[in-house]
Amino acid sequence: TKNVKVHATFESMRLKPELLKGIYSYGFEAPSAIQSRAIMQIISGKDTIAQAQSGTGKTATFSIGMLQIVDTKVRSCQALVVSPTRELAVQIHSVIMNLGNYMNVQTHACIGGKQVGEDTRKLGQGQHIVSGTPGRVLDVIKRRNLSTRGVKMLVLDEADELMTKGFKEQIYEIYRQLPATVQVVVVSATLTREVLEMTAKFTSDPVKILVKKEDVSLEGIKQYQVQCEKEEWKFDTLCDLYDSLTITQAVIFCNTKSKVTWLAEQLRKANFAVVAMHGDMKQDERDSIMSDFRSGNSRVLISTDVWARGIDVQQVSLVINYDLPLDKENYIHRIGRSGRFGRKGVAINLLTKDDMQELRDLERHYRIKIREMPLDLTSL
Ligand code: ADP
Ligand code: MG
Repeated sequence: TKNVKVHATFESMRLKPELLKGIYSYGFEAPSAIQSRAIMQIISGKDTIAQAQSGTGKTATFSIGMLQIVDTKVRSCQALVVSPTRELAVQIHSVIMNLGNYMNVQTHACIGGKQVGEDTRKLGQGQHIVSGTPGRVLDVIKRRNLSTRGVKMLVLDEADELMTKGFKEQIYEIYRQLPATVQVVVVSATLTREVLEMTAKFTSDPVKILVKKEDVSLEGIKQYQVQCEKEEWKFDTLCDLYDSLTITQAVIFCNTKSKVTWLAEQLRKANFAVVAMHGDMKQDERDSIMSDFRSGNSRVLISTDVWARGIDVQQVSLVINYDLPLDKENYIHRIGRSGRFGRKGVAINLLTKDDMQELRDLERHYRIKIREMPLDLTSL
């Protein structure tokens, strides 16, 4: 993190005028901390490891970097961003389109669950930037629908998730298919030492912008615990909380798909309006739930960790862990669905006795205090 120049304004980055126009008309006035440090490093062509807390604008950091380096006169893929879920890849694609609105840039979201024929058609037209999930990206590369020859930059968003959760081989394989000179940008709010060591395989002498683990947790998100005598009590607690959930929007996390389905059913039986989303649902169903939730049509969403990372819905101000996540990283990512870009957020952990050790470990790891929830919910 040493010796990285800080650019206090977007003007001082000397971006293409049409890109600067896109940034301002998207509503950004000044760069966030990570943007003021990492954008110029990325543009300079150096391999970059960019870590910053959730909701602080990492997407625009690499998107502006990609948009600045693509030559829109050349109709081939020059920058590729890979992320772990379909919804996230689509969201990144949409940020790139918005920021690049005045640039005549072609971008495509290449994700599983969609007709590969559509990818073939779109990629055939020549896309400057591709945002995709690992499996489908690899698939279109192997089918030679996506030519990798001109790819100058590879971005791994939620890199630690990509490198530890079953995507690892696909990521290596994608990297091997790219030109040896490709610039690699590694992005996440959480980068363990183990993951940083793994990035050495893709990067050479990278610029590192890192955050200490005790600084990863956001101060704007209040974190609470509710101790439940037994698992069944969690449901009653949740019902009591429902009115507070709908003040803005809320996300409830469970650890399994079947529990998501079960909880949604129980809540509906009790006359609470909720939607549910998980990875076994058809993509068009996932799409319609996402658009309903993004529009504010539905206010309470129950999901698995498919929703833990990257998804940006600014209206979410409350996150409930019906189950505690299975790893410490996803705890931070889950609660980070609230409190986007400095907004206030609340996270509530429903616990049984079995969870107490894990909770203490989280507190120690991030040096946080997860207090008991006040009885007066209006004070949240
Ligand atoms: P991260 O990937 O770091 O978790 P995102 O890139 O999803 O965060 O950004 C979080 C939110 O902050 C988004 O809604 C985004 O539009 C907004 N945002 C990012 N950069 C800026 C900026 N410079 N000014 C205002 N809002 C911003
Ligand atoms: Mg992100």
